[in-house]
Amino acid sequence: MRAILFLFLIIFAFGEEYPKHVKETLRKITDRVYGVFGVLEQVSYENRGFISNAYFYVANDGVLVVDALSTYKLGRELVETIRSVTDKPIRFLVITHYHTDHFYGIKAFREIGAETIAHEHAFEYLSNPSSYNFFLSRKKLLKEHLEGTELLPPSISITKSLNIYLRVDEDYRKFEVKHLCRAHTNGDIVIYIPDEKILFSGDIVFDGRLPFLGSGNSKSWVKCLDEILKMEPKILLPGHGNPLIGKEKIKEAVSWTRKYILDLRKTIRRLIEEGCDVDCVRERINEELLKIDPSYAQVPVFFRVNPVNAYYVYFEIENEMLLEE
Ligand SMILES: [Zn+2]
Repeated sequence: MRAILFLFLIIFAFGEEYPKHVKETLRKITDRVYGVFGVLEQVSYENRGFISNAYFYVANDGVLVVDALSTYKLGRELVETIRSVTDKPIRFLVITHYHTDHFYGIKAFREIGAETIAHEHAFEYLSNPSSYNFFLSRKKLLKEHLEGTELLPPSISITKSLNIYLRVDEDYRKFEVKHLCRAHTNGDIVIYIPDEKILFSGDIVFDGRLPFLGSGNSKSWVKCLDEILKMEPKILLPGHGNPLIGKEKIKEAVSWTRKYILDLRKTIRRLIEEGCDVDCVRERINEELLKIDPSYAQVPVFFRVNPVNAYYVYFEIENEMLLEE
């Protein structure tokens, strides 16, 4: 009996850990901006793939949504969550980048007639067979949670920038949708509201978490971060983790992301110059970075993800060095 009770308690405690509906994580950030927040984990069956954030802005003449979450079902829950706040039409969905946890929910928005906007790179991503293979592996992992999910393209694609104007009281407010540079992927988009100094940054800025450098470009990522600092946002809403409120907090997170990328690049370059090949770099990169800054040891997933990042950045730097010759 005791064992059964214990088991029940474990199941109960475990079940409590994850939100059963996206709406449970809803937070009001400003008068008009709301967010829902996924757990800071890798995708698993237990967390249903709810590992990223999505945001929405309620204007007088409609709603603009940033990111679609990582399954059709979560996308539906996001629509329901928006509906619990406002009955204004959901007019625009902007997808910050074509990584599964940010766009797999797109169908929930296409089926209600919202314009879905992403970088042109989305088409390149979808035409690559590896995107379908990845979908199959997600299906294996998420099982019924992935039901209804389809790999759909956006209805509008951009290569540089696009402005959207929505009515806010007596005014029209500008939403700058722009591709600053290649960073976390080759098609990152940020959304900036200059009148309110609010920036939706996708996965370009990480607050004390290790960024993933496997599908973008580390060199231009640093430029992107400089551009973000120049904008001087007061509120920065990232694709994962908590909202960053206040210039100082934002500067700290942007500078931290920047410093990690530069430390990694600098170290890999030195190791290559010392004759280290890719396996050697991967093996030594953790200890070498800890020599520069021991606090990296406290960063979640550092020991696992840092060698993976080093693997990808190695080839980037090798290429840069070849071009210099
Ligand atoms: Zn991503």
